[in-house]
Amino acid sequence: MERLKDKGASFLFSSLNPEALFTPEDFTEEHQMIGATARRFAEKEVTPVNERIENQEFELIPELMKKAGDLGLLAHSIPEKYGGLGLDKISKGIVGEMIGPTGGYGVAHSNHTCIATLPITYFGTEEQKKKYLPKLASGEWIGAYCLTEPNAGSDALSAQTTAVLNEEGTHYCLNGTKIYITNAVFSDTFIVYAKVDGEHFTAFIVEKDAPGLSLGPEEKKMGIKGSSTRSVVFEDCLVSKENLLGEVGRGHVIALNVLNLGRFNLGSACVGASKFGLKRTMKFVKERRQFGKEIARFPATKQKIAWMAARIYAAESLQYRTAGLIEEALGDLNDANDHRLVGKQMGEFAVECAICKVFSSEVLDYTADEALQLHGGAGFIKEYGAEQMYRDSRINRIFEGTNEINRLLIPTYLFKKAMKGEVDLASKTKEAIARLNGSVPQTEGTFFLKKRQLKQ
Ligand SMILES: Cc1cc2nc3c(=O)[nH]c(=O)nc-3n(C[C@H](O)[C@H](O)[C@H](O)COP(=O)(O)OP(=O)(O)OC[C@H]3O[C@@H](n4cnc5c(N)ncnc54)[C@H](O)[C@@H]3O)c2cc1C
Repeated sequence: MERLKDKGASFLFSSLNPEALFTPEDFTEEHQMIGATARRFAEKEVTPVNERIENQEFELIPELMKKAGDLGLLAHSIPEKYGGLGLDKISKGIVGEMIGPTGGYGVAHSNHTCIATLPITYFGTEEQKKKYLPKLASGEWIGAYCLTEPNAGSDALSAQTTAVLNEEGTHYCLNGTKIYITNAVFSDTFIVYAKVDGEHFTAFIVEKDAPGLSLGPEEKKMGIKGSSTRSVVFEDCLVSKENLLGEVGRGHVIALNVLNLGRFNLGSACVGASKFGLKRTMKFVKERRQFGKEIARFPATKQKIAWMAARIYAAESLQYRTAGLIEEALGDLNDANDHRLVGKQMGEFAVECAICKVFSSEVLDYTADEALQLHGGAGFIKEYGAEQMYRDSRINRIFEGTNEINRLLIPTYLFKKAMKGEVDLASKTKEAIARLNGSVPQTEGTFFLKKRQLKQ
């Protein structure tokens, strides 16, 4: 792939070289292989036990994760040196997409491979990487990411959890509560954000048996029932100084930048779930007959299917184009020790990652709603599956930053880049205004050429 010279958000005003953009047509054999492995795993191992996962037989999740680990499906984003496969971000997107249709299991899997593992992959010390990554790559250990608190949700940096170094200088003492933590019940490692001395936002790796760590009861949820969601409480919880992740006061660099990849990943899962929903719906509308014919033959049905397909096509293109960009930004940095550079590169395509999250989650909600509608009464009945898809899809507009917050991030990052002189927003805006005010319509470009050719 030709190297992309443009920076994040430049899609708004740069002329693009189509050769430089990644699309699913560019998949290599390796991509196809990991995709096929992930699809097979989802279909053969997870789907058959969906009912038990829905019934919250939580011991199943670690068992399935172990199987996924044996197949390399937890290791794509971990360097080979630490027991991973060291694959590119396109592979990450592919695995995310294939696991996407698996509801609660999919959320547990994606949470583990992305926001619970990547903080260590990108910001850990050599010792931390050696200690934790091989276990997280194989599925022997499962991870959680603890940012949200009762009074700090969208405003995550207003966290009230504190960390104070003890007199001996050996351990931090953590106090506070994190809520809605995915994977809490079966996690071995918790990436926890706390303020050192109540001021400096900092990340820690906390192991499940750290003294003073306890879990709240399981939340009763609307969907993704198979993924555990609990509060995690720290009461004078002692965490070794060696488990501080990154630098004191720089936890936001980890928390927010890792969420960029989380948002991209969530988008991939939404595309996978949307494709699955469309496929299932197409099968149903071809089988169900009313008024003497298959309901697939009605124009209203065709229109619904067409809109689902069109949106999924756009979301898929967005996801893989963004995967290519993130790979450009981060591909060489899997094992980098320059955390500032890693943070900067992770943030480069924050606008695109926010768009992935917002657009793909809304495509999934649209697809789930229309899928249910096309099933008629059967859509409301558990046995047909559309109702689970409908319930499971809804969370995607809420976690990893609500869609409202992500919509706010898009202009915020854009203006920040403009202020730093990284994108030339001012002159492009002037150009656009001049063009709008100009009396002569644009007569060049593909559209006009085609029109002219058509007339001939
Ligand atoms: C099932 C589940 C799993 C989760 N897993 C995790 C996890 O593993 N780790 C973790 O740390 N967190 C997790 N979360 C928490 C999740 O990320 C938060 O719920 C989410 O970020 C929103 O925070 P909040 O619930 O406090 O809502 P609030 O921040 O209170 O928001 C309430 C409403 O106000 C809107 N709003 C807030 N601020 C603004 C603004 N400035 N402008 C416009 N609208 C605004 C929001 O968009 C939302 O609609 C999970 C949540 C759920 C439900």
